[in-house]
Amino acid sequence: MKELHTFGWYAARIKPHLPKEAFKPVPARLWGGLAYLLVTVAGFLAIGLFDLHVVLNVLIACVLGASFAAMGFLGHEILHGTVVRKGWLRDLLGAIAFFPLSTGPSLWRKWHNLTHHVHTQDDENDPDSWPTLEKMLKQPFFRWVYRIPLPVRAFFSFCSLAIQFSAHSAKMFGVYIKEFNVKKRPKVWLELILPWATWISILFILGPIKWFFAFLLPLLIANFIVMSYISTNHRLNPLVPVNDPLANSLTVTVPKWVDVLHFNFSYHTEHHLFPGMSSKFYPLVKEHIKKMWPDRYHEMPMIKAMIALWKTPRLYFQGNELVDPRKGALYGSLGNGLDPARIMARSSMLKQETEVSDEFVNKESNDKTI
Ligand SMILES: [Zn+2]
Ligand SMILES: [Zn+2]
Repeated sequence: MKELHTFGWYAARIKPHLPKEAFKPVPARLWGGLAYLLVTVAGFLAIGLFDLHVVLNVLIACVLGASFAAMGFLGHEILHGTVVRKGWLRDLLGAIAFFPLSTGPSLWRKWHNLTHHVHTQDDENDPDSWPTLEKMLKQPFFRWVYRIPLPVRAFFSFCSLAIQFSAHSAKMFGVYIKEFNVKKRPKVWLELILPWATWISILFILGPIKWFFAFLLPLLIANFIVMSYISTNHRLNPLVPVNDPLANSLTVTVPKWVDVLHFNFSYHTEHHLFPGMSSKFYPLVKEHIKKMWPDRYHEMPMIKAMIALWKTPRLYFQGNELVDPRKGALYGSLGNGLDPARIMARSSMLKQETEVSDEFVNKESNDKTI
């Protein structure tokens, strides 16, 4: 593995090449948020007030889902302080933007800004990183899951993208609520309860069928869109002992109009170098990264990254390897032998493969004897 550097190391080398305005907040991003908010309100009114044909309801649900997701991307940006600087306004706008996904600003900043960004792809401390083989072996349910053939697992894990953000957000609430000081906890609870109370009230106002089209289906669609990015951000990269964004992050590419709709959320490596910078400037940061460290930088089209995710197992072995414990097959990771254009288990690791399989199989039979 190449020598690793912290995000500060890279940022310090790129910063002198960037204009001063790149480090200022960009409140104009809020116009995009306002547009999505208006579309969302119009969608709710259309479904609520009229008895539309089911096809039209599904189409509106798709637009609402896309708007929920895009507002989530803007919320992410706002809560990094890149849109407005004042703390209370940042949290208020962030709460509005994350309202459809029902994630509160205090929880998000603790989970994402203060933990995921600080400990990215750290085996122990990143709440978003995938588990190692050793951790999985300790959990009976997951040992069972990883005995299912890889293509079947891939199918179900892709279906689960439609609920993964909401499910993980609920899990993070359970993990982090204890870490807030007692005085702040009621506010964090309120930030969770208020959106859900609103959505449940709307269920009683609209009735279950209209609520399904106005909220539930859009929420599933938004989860899928948001998770399509989040699942490609780091899951093909290795776990690392140093938080090196060029080693542990992936930038995906999407058509320009998608970047406009999604506030440049595709530039994830750039975001980890400069989380406090408006994503408006990430194309410029990308140019500099590619000039300075072309051999370290990982980028690929979104669709290629999704296919690579489908074909590789989601379990780490010795940090650099993705392992399918069912067969003991090792796949490497980005920068460590994984070729997204030609994904296959690496036959040269036969010796290690046997040990991994043995560990898995032995643990299984031990459990049965107990
Ligand atoms: Zn990240
Ligand atoms: Zn971030």
